[in-house]
Amino acid sequence: MQWNVDFDISALVILFVIIVLYASKQCVSIKRSHIFLTMTGLEIIAIFCNIAVRNMMTGPESQPNLLCIVLMDIFFALQYLVPIAFMYYMIVWSGKSFKEDKIVTILFIAPIIVYGVMIIKNFFKQDLYVFDNQYGYQETHMISILGGMVLYCMLFGLIYAIMHIRLMSFGKLSMVALLAVTVGVSVVVQYYILDSVFIDFIIAVSLLVVYLVAQNPADMLDSNTQVLSRNMMDELLRNDIGEKKEFDLVVLALDDFKFVNKTFGITTGDMMLIQVAHFLTTVSSRGKVYRYGSDQFALQIKRGDVDLHTVLETISERFRHPWITEDVSVMLSTTISCVSYPEDGVMMEGLVDVIDYSVLSAKTQGKGSIVFAKDMDLQALRKEKAIEKAIELAIDRDTIEVYYQPIYNVEKQCYTSAEALVRIHDDSLGNISPEVFIPISEKNGTIVKMGTMIFEKVCKFISEHNLKDTSIEYIEVNVSVVQCMQQGFAENLIDIMEYYHVDPSQINLEVTETAAANSIAILQENIAKLHNQGISFSLDDYGSGYSTLGYLHQLPFKIIKLDKLMVWDAFENERAGITLKFTVGMLKELQVRIVAEGVETKEQRAHLAGIGCDYLQGWYYSKAIPANEFVTLIEEAC
Ligand code: C2E
Ligand code: CA
Ligand code: CA
Repeated sequence: MQWNVDFDISALVILFVIIVLYASKQCVSIKRSHIFLTMTGLEIIAIFCNIAVRNMMTGPESQPNLLCIVLMDIFFALQYLVPIAFMYYMIVWSGKSFKEDKIVTILFIAPIIVYGVMIIKNFFKQDLYVFDNQYGYQETHMISILGGMVLYCMLFGLIYAIMHIRLMSFGKLSMVALLAVTVGVSVVVQYYILDSVFIDFIIAVSLLVVYLVAQNPADMLDSNTQVLSRNMMDELLRNDIGEKKEFDLVVLALDDFKFVNKTFGITTGDMMLIQVAHFLTTVSSRGKVYRYGSDQFALQIKRGDVDLHTVLETISERFRHPWITEDVSVMLSTTISCVSYPEDGVMMEGLVDVIDYSVLSAKTQGKGSIVFAKDMDLQALRKEKAIEKAIELAIDRDTIEVYYQPIYNVEKQCYTSAEALVRIHDDSLGNISPEVFIPISEKNGTIVKMGTMIFEKVCKFISEHNLKDTSIEYIEVNVSVVQCMQQGFAENLIDIMEYYHVDPSQINLEVTETAAANSIAILQENIAKLHNQGISFSLDDYGSGYSTLGYLHQLPFKIIKLDKLMVWDAFENERAGITLKFTVGMLKELQVRIVAEGVETKEQRAHLAGIGCDYLQGWYYSKAIPANEFVTLIEEAC
C-alpha cells in the first residue's frame, strides 16, 4: 500500500478547521464535548506521527531507528482508538445507555478487545507493518483486521445514533446516514485499492460531520439566553438516568411573562430572560441550567451538591427583588416545581410527563407557588399515560371496535337508526370507557386518526351489511370538537363514503354543544360542506352543558338529542319534568326531530313517547352491542 501525503495534509486541514470553529464559539462542557475534543486531538497526533515516520523512512536503504518504531506504534494505537471513541461518542449522544442489554454490551466490547490485542501485540512484535526493498515500509495484511474494526465501530455508532435519537431533524439524520454509507464504502474501497491510504482522511471528514451535526454550540445552547437548550436537557437527563445518577430538577415557569413582552416589548422581555438565566447559573456552581420552554427554565442539581431547600430559598429571595434592564425595572414572579430522580419518575418518558404535570399543577395553585412532585397525585397522571398507550396500541393494531346501540322510532315502532359507539379493550387495563379515553385522545390529538378509523368502520359496516335493505335508515356517528377543527375534515369523510359507496343520507353526525361553542366558524364551514352532500346532523347531549339555543338557529341540525341526565332528572324532580316537557314542545315548534337518551324503564319509555319524543335510545331497548349482534337484533326485531 502506498502512502500519499496529500490525504494526510487534507485531513490535518479539516481537523484544524474543526479546532478553529470550536474555539471561536462558546464551548459546552459536557461529556460528549470532551470525547469529541479527545478524538480530534488523538487524530491530529496520529497523523503527525505518521507524517514524521514516513519522512524519516524515505527509501529502501533507510533502516528504521527506535524513534521510528515508537512513533509508528503510537500512530497505530491512536489512529485506531479514534473509531472506538467515535462509537462511544455516538452512544453518549443518543443518551441511551445499554448497560443492561447484554448483547449490545458484547457488540460494544468486541472491537475494543480486537483493538487491544492487536495494538499490544504490535508493541512487541511490530506485525502491523514491515520494511521491504521496494517501498521501505509497508503495512501487513494484519492491518485489514483493524480496517474491518474501523468499519464496524463507525457503522455501529452511526446506526445506534439513528435508532435512538428521537429528536434528530431529518436533515441531520440524512447527514448521519450518508456518513454511515460513505464510511462503509470507503473502508471497502480502501481494502481493494492499495495505491494510497485514505483512512485518516475519512476519519477527519467524519469528525467534521459530527461537529456540524452534533457538536455545534448553536444547537446545544439556547440562542437568546445561552443556557443549555431543551434538546440538551432531554439528552443529558437521559444520560444521567442511564447512569443512574440521582438529581433534583427545579423548574421555573415565569408568571404572566406574555404581559412583560406585551408591555415592555420583546427586546426587554429577552433581556429579562437573559438575566433570569444568568442568575440561575450562579445558584449552583455545578448545576446545569436549561431553557425548558419559552418562559420556563430548569435547574438540574446533582444530589448531594447543594441542598434543594437552600436553592429554593435563594431563588425565592431573588424574585423578591426587581429585575432591571437599561430602562425598566420589573418585579417577576415564578411558579416552581421540583422533580426528583429517581423518586418521581423512574424513566425519562415518565420524568418529562411528571415535569409537565407538576408545572401545570404549580400554575393552577397560583402565582409564586412551589410544588413538589412527590406531593402530587401522580396516580392520575400514570393512569392517563397508560390509557394514552392503550389508545396508540389500539390505533396501531387496528383493534378499535365500533358497537351499535339501536334507536327506536316511536312513530314507525321499530329501530330506524343506531348510534355508533367506540370501544377499546386493552390487555392490561381491560375495557376502557370512551368517557375516559375520548377526552385523553382529544387532548393528545389521536382522536383525529381514531375518528377517521371509526368513520371508515361504520361506512364499511353499512356497505357490507346492505343496511339500505333493512329498517335502519342511517347511523349516527359522534364527531369530536378536535375533528371539527381540522381543515379537510369534510373532504376526508366524503372520500371515505365514496370509497365504500355509502349514500350520505345513511350518515348522521352527532356534534356536542361544546363543539359548536368552541369553533363555530370552522364548524359551520365543515358542516355546510357535509350538509350540501346530504349528510344530516344531530346536536348531542342537549341540556347538559351550556344551553346555547343560538346554535340551533345557526346550524342545520335535523335532530336534537336530549342528554340522559336531563331525561333522568325529569323523573326525579317535578320542575325538571316541566322543563323537559316544554323543551320538547319548543323543539317541535322548531321542527327538529327529538331523541331521548338514557331510556331505561317502561315508564320512561311511555312518558317520553307521550310528550312527543320522536326517537328513544337506551338500555330499555338495548345496550351498545357488537356489529354482528346488532345485525341479528334488527333482523329479529323489525
Ligand atoms: P354519548 O354520545 O352521549 O353516547 C351515549 C352514551 O350513553 C353511551 O356511552 C351509551 O352507551 C350510553 N347509554 C345509552 N343508553 C343508556 C342508558 O339507558 N343508560 C345509561 N346509563 N347509559 C346509556 P358510551 O358508549 O360509554 O359513550 C360515552 C361517550 O363517549 C359518548 O357519549 C360520546 O360522547 C363518547 N363517544 C363514544 N363513542 C364515540 C365515538 O365514536 N367518537 C367520539 N368522538 N366520541 C364517542
Ligand atoms: Ca352521541
Ligand atoms: Ca349523548
